[in-house]
Amino acid sequence: MIKCEGMKTVQFSVASDRGLVRATNEDSYCLLPLEQGVLAAVADGIGGQLQGEVASGLAIRTLEEALGQGVGATSEERGRRLEEAVALAQARILRASEDQPPQSRMGTTLTAVLVWDLEAHVAHVGDSRLYRFGSATLRQVTRDHSVVGEMIGRGELSPDQAEHHPQRHVLSRWLGHGGDGTPDTLRLTLGAGEGLLLCSDGLSSQLSDAEILEVLTQGGALDELAWKLVRTVNRRGGSDNTTVVLIRTDRE
Ligand code: MN
Repeated sequence: MIKCEGMKTVQFSVASDRGLVRATNEDSYCLLPLEQGVLAAVADGIGGQLQGEVASGLAIRTLEEALGQGVGATSEERGRRLEEAVALAQARILRASEDQPPQSRMGTTLTAVLVWDLEAHVAHVGDSRLYRFGSATLRQVTRDHSVVGEMIGRGELSPDQAEHHPQRHVLSRWLGHGGDGTPDTLRLTLGAGEGLLLCSDGLSSQLSDAEILEVLTQGGALDELAWKLVRTVNRRGGSDNTTVVLIRTDRE
């Protein structure tokens, strides 16, 4: 828990699990407490022969290193440093892929938030997601960089149709070899009692927004809620790795 401006507090928790089918967990995450906030990120690795794990880990460690040294004094600076950290992650993954044969070149999604006081800077590439939630609402903030996500954006497909689309797992943007690593960026201001949820597609491909909200509104400790979401996914077969990060400000 971190005390922010005006004695507001921010709580955070994470749950990450291999699931029941995959041999390894290629999702990576960070949850780094800062003086007046927190850096949180989820990365879902792609690539053969464990390369996904390497790529997602490299992205996350680069962010932690770059922003752990200081995030800047102004909002503009924090936004810029987050973007620079993502560009550095892209460069490092490309460099690490240089010597690899084409079939084991690696990539990763990356969804990151830098929360400072009640302001959050967001950088996002791929189909991991950021949602914001209140006591009775859940809204997806990021746009999926997937073939299907782009089609929904152009109005060519409804979210319901997308659920069963054969290309629903095909990314249109990612960090690493062959990907356009340019992140979408945005800035949010959190209200009292409001929260952020970051997740890999292990969660969002299995649970609808309504089902996620149902768990979030059960109350209880944030740690317990994150694990409850993961257990719910695993009860449906746990076909993918699942990572959930929750961040919430207090109510008053
Ligand atoms: Mn996944």
